[in-house]
Amino acid sequence: MPGFERFGEEERKEVNDVLETGILMRYGFDGPRKGIWKSKELEAAIAQKLSVKHVQLVSSGTAALSTAMAALGIGAGDEVIMPCFTFVASFEAVLFAGATPVMVEIDDTLTLDPKAVEAAITPKTKAIMPVHMCGGMADLDALQAICKKHHLLLLEDACQAIGATYKGKYLGTIGDAGTFSFDFVKTITCAEGGAVMTNNVDVYTKADGFSDHGHDHLGVDRGADLHPFIGYNFRISELHAAVGLAQWRKLDEFLAIQRATKKILHDAIASIPGVSFRRFPDAAGDSATFLEFFLPSLEAAQKTTAAMKAAGLPAFHYYDNNWHYIRKWDHLKTAATLGALTPDLTKSLEAYQDKKFPQSDDLIGRCICMLINLNWSADDIKNKAAAIRKAIESAI
Ligand SMILES: *Cc1c(COP(=O)(O)O)cnc(C)c1O
Repeated sequence: MPGFERFGEEERKEVNDVLETGILMRYGFDGPRKGIWKSKELEAAIAQKLSVKHVQLVSSGTAALSTAMAALGIGAGDEVIMPCFTFVASFEAVLFAGATPVMVEIDDTLTLDPKAVEAAITPKTKAIMPVHMCGGMADLDALQAICKKHHLLLLEDACQAIGATYKGKYLGTIGDAGTFSFDFVKTITCAEGGAVMTNNVDVYTKADGFSDHGHDHLGVDRGADLHPFIGYNFRISELHAAVGLAQWRKLDEFLAIQRATKKILHDAIASIPGVSFRRFPDAAGDSATFLEFFLPSLEAAQKTTAAMKAAGLPAFHYYDNNWHYIRKWDHLKTAATLGALTPDLTKSLEAYQDKKFPQSDDLIGRCICMLINLNWSADDIKNKAAAIRKAIESAI
C-alpha cells in the first residue's frame, strides 16, 4: 500500500535535480533554480491525471484539510459533519478552523451513512466531510444530493484513497474541494506532504494564499506580494515535491498491483460462511489498498485478528485501535487541547462522552482490514490467501 515499498532510482533522480541547484523552496529564486520547479510540476501532473482544474500542494494531509477548510470559509460557529471512523487528522483540522466536528454513524461502506448525515443537519451545518477510508469511496451521489438540498459544502478527505474513482471521476475532485496526504504510509509518499484539489478558481486562489502566509503571489518578488487575508506556512519543499513527482508517476502501477492482489485474497475467503465484505458504491473504483471484510461477531473478529497477527498478516481491527475510531478518542471527548477552546466547543466535544454509535460499533467491531503490500510475490499472495482462510476458520 504505501509508496515507500517501491522507492528507488526514480525518486533519487528527481531529488538530485533539486540538490544540484540548491533551491529547496518552491517560490522565487527564478534565476538560480535553472528551470527546476518540482512543486509546480507535481501540481500540473496531478491536475492532468485527475482532470481537475486546480491543485495546491502543501506540507501534509492535515495541512491540506486545514487549507481546504479555510479556503471554503469554514470557521467559528460552523458545524462540519464527518464520520466517527476516520484518522484523527480529520477532526483536528475542523478544530483548527475553530469549527465544530459533528461525528455521525458510518454504514457498511465504512464511511458516512447518508441517513445519519441528514439527521445531523442543523442551521449551523456548513459542510459535509466524507472520509474515503481504506482506499474505498463514500456514497457520493447520496451525499451530493444532501448538500444540494441543504446548500452545504462537500469536502472530500481522500487522504487514504489516492487514485480511487467514483463513477469515472477521481475521489478528491468531486466535492467543492478534496484532499490527499502523501505521508509515509500513504499510497503515494513524499515523507510529508499533501494536496488540495478543486475545480473552483476562488477556492484555489484562497488555498494558494492561505498555505503561504496569505501571499497573493502577484508581486514582482515575495516582498512585493500583497496579503489580502491572513494565512499560515503550510508550504511543501522542493525536496518533498521531487520525491512526490517520481512516486506520482508510479500510481497506475501501484493501483494495478493492489487490485490484482486484492482480487486473489478476496476470492480466497469469499466462500467461507459468515464472511461478508465492505460495500463499495462503485466497486470498480476501489484503489484496493486494503482487504476489508466482516465476521459474524465482535468475538470472531477479535479471534481472527489475533490468529492473523500470529500468522504474520498485517491485520487491523479498528475497534481496538486508538487512532481511527471514536471509541478510543478520549483526548477528543475530554477536549484535551493545550490552549483553551471556546466554552461552546468544549461542551460539544464533552457531549461525545455519552454519545452512542451502535451501528458503527457493530460494523467496526466485526470488521478486519488487512494491508496489501506492493512487494508481495505471487507465492507470497497465495500463501497469505491460505493463511487468512485458516485464521478465519480457526476463529469461527
Ligand atoms: C493520513 C490522513 C490524514 C492526514 O495526513 P497527514 O499527511 O498524515 O497529515 C488525514 N485524513 C486521513 C483519513 C488520513 O488517513
